[in-house]
Amino acid sequence: MPSVISTDVLIVGAGVAGLWLNARLRRQGFSTVLVESATLGGGQSIKSQGIIHGGAKYALHGALTGASEAIADMPRRWREALAGDGELDLSGVRLLSDAHYLWSPGTLAGNLTSFFASKAVRGRVDQVKGDQLPPALQDKRFKGKVYRLAELVVDVPSLIQRLADLAGDGLLAGHSIEPLLEGGKLVGLKVDEHEIRAQRIVISAGAGTATLLETLGISRPAMQRRPLHMIIAKGPGLKPLYAHCLGGGTKPRITITTHPAADGQWVWYLGGDIAETDGVNRQPAEQIATAQKELGQLLPWIDLSTAQWATLRVDRAEPLQTGLTRPDNAFLAEEGRLLVGWPTKLALAPDFADRVIASLERDGIQPSQAAPLPDLPKPPIGVPAWEQLLP
Ligand SMILES: Cc1cc2nc3c(=O)[nH]c(=O)nc-3n(C[C@H](O)[C@H](O)[C@H](O)COP(=O)(O)OP(=O)(O)OC[C@H]3O[C@@H](n4cnc5c(N)ncnc54)[C@H](O)[C@@H]3O)c2cc1C
Repeated sequence: MPSVISTDVLIVGAGVAGLWLNARLRRQGFSTVLVESATLGGGQSIKSQGIIHGGAKYALHGALTGASEAIADMPRRWREALAGDGELDLSGVRLLSDAHYLWSPGTLAGNLTSFFASKAVRGRVDQVKGDQLPPALQDKRFKGKVYRLAELVVDVPSLIQRLADLAGDGLLAGHSIEPLLEGGKLVGLKVDEHEIRAQRIVISAGAGTATLLETLGISRPAMQRRPLHMIIAKGPGLKPLYAHCLGGGTKPRITITTHPAADGQWVWYLGGDIAETDGVNRQPAEQIATAQKELGQLLPWIDLSTAQWATLRVDRAEPLQTGLTRPDNAFLAEEGRLLVGWPTKLALAPDFADRVIASLERDGIQPSQAAPLPDLPKPPIGVPAWEQLLP
């Protein structure tokens, strides 16, 4: 006998987008079920660098674009949530850094000075020197300029743990998903042995969304993957650094974030241009050698002699874009009861939830008196890549 469940909003995919939305909806009194086929946050979210962008990086394109406008409010919203008085209570989530930095090695500094003095970024970006520099840049050999961005970096595993706690009894480890139709219309999903009816169904399954839509017989919205080849270094000589190192183009040459490993050491996680096209085409050993060379040139005083290295291939999942432009905002498409989307950035999870909530409000969807949920099997929490690759 299938178990029959009724809920207000059924969400599929428990990365940051699904978990954040789930917590917001529950706070507003909606009943929810959040289905995850693998691990909580283990898709892109725990593999991300955890930077809560405010748009300054995008302003490097020369002008404030739509991206800068839409994303500008995210650091404030996250800060309030982390302080326990925002749209969610995320007190207890570990803040890795209260700021992210832009660092221009040597020759580029001239151009940047006039850029940062411009009206567009004033008040959001301050130059730092001396003992205000991030610890890894405090060396007399350091040349170049460093700007502090009003952005933060969160410890994503502790974020996912907190959002899982806020999910209460609504999490469901589910593998096989089929449409639940009535009169040819989608009214819910069959998840393993459960028939789950819902007023709205939200698909936030990251890179799994395209396959899931196929299963449901739906062809839009189309998805794209953007492959990355990230580099991981763990070692006793590493000091905290959260910075985009600029290379003259519109993309950071390298973006370094620092994360705590379970054994107490620091991990440097390297992304940015080095992890994109050329990096994707490199074999892991070549990719590690490229990173070692870059770091050797940029930060020769950092002792990497005993560091352990690994690389991680992971795709960003986004709505299909025309050309090479990156998505600026969270994306949500709607058809009947079905809502499908991607936050496009961890930082934009609040924007993704806003879009779903606006859709419910527009359609007059209210919390109903749903029956209590049965005891459902729970998905485990994802594990950071360095714990698997460099235990
Ligand atoms: C290397 C890297 C670094 C990044 N750094 C940053 C950063 O610093 N700042 C930032 O803002 N953004 C960053 N991003 C982007 C950010 O990680 C993503 O935009 C965000 O995590 C996407 O969240 P999500 O919940 O949509 O997807 P995911 O975290 O991928 O979650 C989707 C979930 O759906 C589940 N799922 C898939 N198919 C099914 C199915 N059929 N049934 C049930 N569940 C299913 C998956 O198992 C997964 O848990 C980075 C991304 C990458 C890859």
